[in-house]
Amino acid sequence: MRMPTLNHHLIGLIHKSSFKKQFIFKKTELIPCGFKDPLNEDKFKKTKGLIYRYPDRVVLTTTNRCFAYCRFCFRKNNWEHFEGFSLKEAIKYIEKNKQIREVLISGGDPLTLENGELEKILNNLREIKHIEVIRIGTRALTSNPKRINRETVNLFSRYKPLWIAIHINHPDEITKEFRESARLIVSSGIPVISQTVLLKGINDNTGTLKKLFCELVKNSIKPYYLFGCDAAFGNGKFRVPTDKALELVKKLRGWISGICMPTFTFDLQKGGGKVVLEPNCLVKREKNRLLFKNFEGKEFWYEDI
Ligand code: SF4
Repeated sequence: MRMPTLNHHLIGLIHKSSFKKQFIFKKTELIPCGFKDPLNEDKFKKTKGLIYRYPDRVVLTTTNRCFAYCRFCFRKNNWEHFEGFSLKEAIKYIEKNKQIREVLISGGDPLTLENGELEKILNNLREIKHIEVIRIGTRALTSNPKRINRETVNLFSRYKPLWIAIHINHPDEITKEFRESARLIVSSGIPVISQTVLLKGINDNTGTLKKLFCELVKNSIKPYYLFGCDAAFGNGKFRVPTDKALELVKKLRGWISGICMPTFTFDLQKGGGKVVLEPNCLVKREKNRLLFKNFEGKEFWYEDI
């Protein structure tokens, strides 16, 4: 397994608490566990770098380069074995499949591409009439915030409606530079959402998650997904049991506002797709009456229709 080097921004933050465990190799990763391709993305590859798993959207893995090289990356196999990306083939496929209305530009991190390369992708996508929304997934705000400058944001703005989905797992990743980058994007009218991976020993407690999600909202970023950690090779030490994850969600739901609360989701192995999980608050039903437990653990009857 390739041992990537940390970039300058991350080295500057590396003294910070449990945050650094995301990026530093530990021998425990060598304990055999997990899968090379935990989401079975290969099965859904239609052209080089185009994954088509859900009816109305596709993912483009445009590069295998990243700013972060998280040790738990579910595409870490691509670090060494990447078949590449063909824009020409991807565009041809999307043009033919008119039910595709959204494209997620992913990687690696697509912002490791030069603006010129990125513009070529965006421009080609925008030429397709049935593409309504473009999303860019990036770790740049947390791992290389200087990548987000006026020029980059102007580029995004030319291809609206465009959403930025950031990857962030710990409140210590919200730095002055992060805030400036977020402000630059948001002030140009581009919505920003976040994706967080639940990681053992890093953010698997209510205090850390609460702080992270509330801070994101303060920066006009909507926490979108809280993901279970995928069973990629060597990820055993990062994975949180689903029961514990649901307990954490239960302790957050209702205690922080709805806009701070992401959806807890995980990807089923063997390519089963995403599943959304919420703690069960239905206690029982009697004819048209339902008994629920609220966020405080108190029970209330609800008259159904
Ligand atoms: S930021 Fe995303 S693509 Fe990059 S290493 Fe981390 S999980 Fe993988």
